[in-house]
Amino acid sequence: MISRRIMPRRHGVAAVGLAALCLTCSGSSRSGAILAADNSTKVFAGGDVKEIYRINLDRDEGLLEGINAAIKQYDIQDGAVLTTVGSTQECTYHYVKTTAMLAEDVFVTQKGAAEILGAGGLIANGEPHVHITLATPERGAFGGHLENGCKVLYVAEITLAKFSGPQLTRRPNKNKIPMLEGR
Ligand SMILES: [Zn+2]
Repeated sequence: MISRRIMPRRHGVAAVGLAALCLTCSGSSRSGAILAADNSTKVFAGGDVKEIYRINLDRDEGLLEGINAAIKQYDIQDGAVLTTVGSTQECTYHYVKTTAMLAEDVFVTQKGAAEILGAGGLIANGEPHVHITLATPERGAFGGHLENGCKVLYVAEITLAKFSGPQLTRRPNKNKIPMLEGR
């Protein structure tokens, strides 16, 4: 069973909580628009893996909630979600609806057993940006931007990394898309 709701993107540097971190992977430039994106590719070099954390989530635990709990407990300001496997009984994610310069998110809640084929992303300023791929026999592979409310079915195993080196954060660009920057 799938339910969908469409929500305008929320913005604001000071916004708190994961709902405000509605990120997309829409960093590429698009020509012809008034608010064309910058073409500058930023590479933040010089980091090292400082520590690795292996997480086991049990049935009914929240996937993103568990990741955020570990980030908070171990003060992972800069890092990555490297691997995620397991299964979910319910999962909420969002995807972008159009190619408009201002993003519009569609929120989906998938109910029923699904395999987690993978989930990963960067952690900047303690905020994870994680995308998940799920799979069922009926739908094949699907997924999007991981939201709170993905409940583990049997188990989920996650690898987190803490980085040393350049410290990053995300700030909205002129199209209000949060972009990685030094902090
Ligand atoms: Zn995203």
